[in-house]
Amino acid sequence: MNTHPATPDTIAEGARILKAGGLVAFPTETVYGLGADATQPEAVARIFEAKGRPSFNPLIVHLGSADWVSDFAEPDARFHKLARAFWPGPLSLVLNQRRGTPIAQLATAGLETIAVRCPEGAVANALLNAAGRPLAAPSANRSGAVSPTHADHVAESLGDRVDLILDGGPCSIGVESTVLDLTTREAVILRPGAITPEQISTLIGPVAAATNAAHAPKSPGQMLSHYAPSLPLRLNAKTVAPREAFLGFGPTDGATLNLSESSNLFEAAANLFAMLRSLDNPDRFNAIAVAPVPETGVGIAINDRLRRAASQ
Ligand code: AMP
Ligand code: MG
Repeated sequence: MNTHPATPDTIAEGARILKAGGLVAFPTETVYGLGADATQPEAVARIFEAKGRPSFNPLIVHLGSADWVSDFAEPDARFHKLARAFWPGPLSLVLNQRRGTPIAQLATAGLETIAVRCPEGAVANALLNAAGRPLAAPSANRSGAVSPTHADHVAESLGDRVDLILDGGPCSIGVESTVLDLTTREAVILRPGAITPEQISTLIGPVAAATNAAHAPKSPGQMLSHYAPSLPLRLNAKTVAPREAFLGFGPTDGATLNLSESSNLFEAAANLFAMLRSLDNPDRFNAIAVAPVPETGVGIAINDRLRRAASQ
């Protein structure tokens, strides 16, 4: 059994596991989160593998206090008002990412924005502060299953796919956090949750509900919900054409970059967004050819993301 009551000792063990790149499920006031160190790309890849998520989506990065935000993002006046009123609490805020942050690109799905939240609860707070790392943490359940509000639900859904489950009793709120985008002039609710639009607009003025316009590309190659390179992508490429960049997987002759020479899908997931970005250079290339990636494990999410990028 890998479920243990949350005590100072098990929380310290959880922090050790996280720093070593492992997965720890922990209670927050919303639901149980499946946490990994957001600065370690392979640890973040393990989240997608454990959940069996067929697609990479940006994850909420959990922080030990609002003071951590400026290490990773560019907070504005609205952020400070909202954080003072609602943190720790069930409100995730999307901000522009700071340049050169240590956050793994896989945690933000390659976006230039980042969703941050300071969760409430003694266990989450103690774990974050003991680890001293920002934690990417979606709900601790297999993809498609309901979000877990008890440690037992996590164990039933994820079993041994998680290194440690910290049991801190039932979650008090039981629904996911409100996600609010602060990167636009008018703030936009991307996901409704426990904090209501009325509570938010009292502090920062009018807020909009997510519309298609809110998800329009903000600049070429950058969408709110999906990262896509500006160059066309050619998938399942066995050979490379002139002026094409070649993104390899496994032994690949002529690869410009290789997602994983040893055919390790975790390593490939960890490298995906950073390598796409670095090959997305119209001065050097006119397309990106990508070698076949096996459709198994976290390879399913890699292929999903490549197909989306190819069909832009
Ligand atoms: P989860 O972590 O699975 O509870 O869900 C994260 C939610 O936050 C999803 O609805 C994401 O689309 C949203 N989200 C996370 N990061 C961003 C971001 N940088 N921009 C927009 N939405 C985000
Ligand atoms: Mg979920």
